[in-house]
Amino acid sequence: MAGEVDVVIAGAGPAGATLAVALGRAGLRVDIHDARRFPREKPCGEGILPAGVGVLDRLGLREAVGGRALHAVRYHGFGVLAESPFGTAALAQRRLRLDQALLEAARATPGVRVFEDAEVEGVERANGRAVGLRVGGEIRRAALVVGADGLSSRVRRGLDLDTPPRGQRVGARMHFKLASGRDLGDRLSIFIGRGYELYAAPLPDGELLLAGLADQELWATGARRVLRRWILDQPVLRDALEGAQPLTGPAGRTGLVRRARAGWAPGAVLLGDAAASTDPLTAGGLAHALVTAERLAAAVPAYLAEGDAALARFDRERRRLLRPHDWLTRALVAIVRRPALARATLHLMRAAPPLMRRVVAIAAGTSIQGPPTSVAASSRPAPAINSATDQEAMLPHRAESP
Ligand SMILES: Cc1cc2nc3c(=O)[nH]c(=O)nc-3n(C[C@H](O)[C@H](O)[C@H](O)COP(=O)(O)OP(=O)(O)OC[C@H]3O[C@@H](n4cnc5c(N)ncnc54)[C@H](O)[C@@H]3O)c2cc1C
Repeated sequence: MAGEVDVVIAGAGPAGATLAVALGRAGLRVDIHDARRFPREKPCGEGILPAGVGVLDRLGLREAVGGRALHAVRYHGFGVLAESPFGTAALAQRRLRLDQALLEAARATPGVRVFEDAEVEGVERANGRAVGLRVGGEIRRAALVVGADGLSSRVRRGLDLDTPPRGQRVGARMHFKLASGRDLGDRLSIFIGRGYELYAAPLPDGELLLAGLADQELWATGARRVLRRWILDQPVLRDALEGAQPLTGPAGRTGLVRRARAGWAPGAVLLGDAAASTDPLTAGGLAHALVTAERLAAAVPAYLAEGDAALARFDRERRRLLRPHDWLTRALVAIVRRPALARATLHLMRAAPPLMRRVVAIAAGTSIQGPPTSVAASSRPAPAINSATDQEAMLPHRAESP
């Protein structure tokens, strides 16, 4: 049965909103739903690595997103400092503004309808195939269902693709307005302590994002107090935050690392954190959400023409693309938990800049290019899509224009 639109999306975070923009520009009809009303906060380290900035550039959204360009990453740990350039710039921007800018771009895209305060209750299935989303007791049908509804994805659960989170790491962030003349420069600064990491992203207008990561038991005395203790433990950070005013209270997440059993099911695909999330230590989540949204948009015309095989191909390609970052993140999380090893690794990075540049390039995804059939910055006419026939039960159907 044909859907009412081509694609229905749960979740209007960076993954869902970027996908909606790219699909709308390709001439498809898209409904996107979010449980929240924007602008809304989302706990995050707020650094967009160069691979993600590349997507914003290709979609012509960088100016709308704004933010502060960051040119390097600097690690501080156990008396050692190691720094490397990103190659191409990363970006830091408040999620409050980033997510709002992406959602507004989606809203302004012909063919895209945005529904806020629209909680997705589940996935509608028929004969083992996803055919729509349930929202406010109604079924919103489409040829393709996308779950971009984040770490605790209801779409993932509805498709029987859930797995439990891995590990006990918890992340929490706060924002500060820095005192005049205090700044950490145009770089991401990562402070490695005993059992924790602090991640500092300088934002526009003299603001600073500070996020802490550690195992759950280390947060027992309360996030604000714990973050304060770690700040005092790091002289460079302590100095930068002298006289700073907190702008937000601590907000965080547990269950940070999660991977769906599969990234797709008949008629549906997961995107962004709903599909897989890595430890925020390497700050990859936003870049991965953007990069994979762009790739999925390029794969949807093939899906509409030939069916689920295109989703399987997209999922394989996604795993291949994100694997180096995933492995690097696992290795770094293991290293920072062992102070002697962390110190030795920082010494090695400091002594071998080409090696550190290589590691940073993997984390930053600087080699990730746009898909071969990338969607241009401005609207394009709809691509020629062969609608499937009624006899081909496993093929989705593109919505007919009214
Ligand atoms: C402490 C911390 C620090 C981090 N630091 C960084 C960093 O520095 N850099 C980086 O790149 N990444 C970082 N991340 C990861 C990053 O935040 C995520 O990878 C990113 O937000 C994923 O985007 P998304 O669109 O997939 O999901 P989300 O941003 O979570 O968006 C999902 C959307 O779905 C909506 N939703 C959820 N359920 C429903 C429902 N039932 N119905 C309708 N809508 C629904 C939500 O309201 C939300 O708007 C960090 C994460 C944490 C927790």
